[in-house]
Amino acid sequence: MKIKEAAYVISSPSVEQCPKPDKPEYAFIGRSNVGKSSLINMICGRDALAKISASPGKTKLINHFVVNKEWYLVDLPGYGYAKISQSERKKREKMIQDYLRKRETLVNIFVLIDSRHMPQKIDLEFVNQLGEWQVPFTLVFTKADKEKPTVVERHVKAFLDKLRETWQFLPRNFVTSITKKQGRDEILNFIDDCNKAVKEKQNEI
Ligand code: GDP
Repeated sequence: MKIKEAAYVISSPSVEQCPKPDKPEYAFIGRSNVGKSSLINMICGRDALAKISASPGKTKLINHFVVNKEWYLVDLPGYGYAKISQSERKKREKMIQDYLRKRETLVNIFVLIDSRHMPQKIDLEFVNQLGEWQVPFTLVFTKADKEKPTVVERHVKAFLDKLRETWQFLPRNFVTSITKKQGRDEILNFIDDCNKAVKEKQNEI
């Protein structure tokens, strides 16, 4: 897929206030500093796009971008913040949970994992939670250029092995790096395939 156009649409404080659900939608989430803004910019080929949702006030919200007038890219707040109050965290978790479980056009959640580390509890917990909710997701292992390929491979395998302990099926995964645009085509092809599948399903109805 070629990116012809990518534009910021709106930042919403709840799923009810999100744009009309009239396009297939793909959300990006991960711990703060995992490389989410960098990945969104790489995917869209726009250097400053995710800066909009990283600006003050918007990091807590559900940020919609429209790509090629065809699908929505959604930048979600990071999880696992240490520096916010309990009540603020609860509020944010509720907003994210509502969005993930109620947004009917949400096709896939890209869960970003820092490829430099062995499996982290907080990421495993989040992914297991998605499994319980039965929301579709794929894993994206970021910053692959920061370690040797063998180390990245080891970390990816360790994460999948952890999931294997409780899961029958493993999610699809991508390995990305912004320095070499690694993973960009794979992710865009995946989105393209999903968009086509959504269209076919609509035509059947
Ligand atoms: P966010 O908080 O998840 O949005 O993370 P950012 O996109 O701001 O990235 C955090 C830091 O990691 C920044 O200094 C980025 O330049 C760096 N970073 C993100 N992705 C990559 C990558 O693929 N390779 C390298 N070398 N650095 C990256």
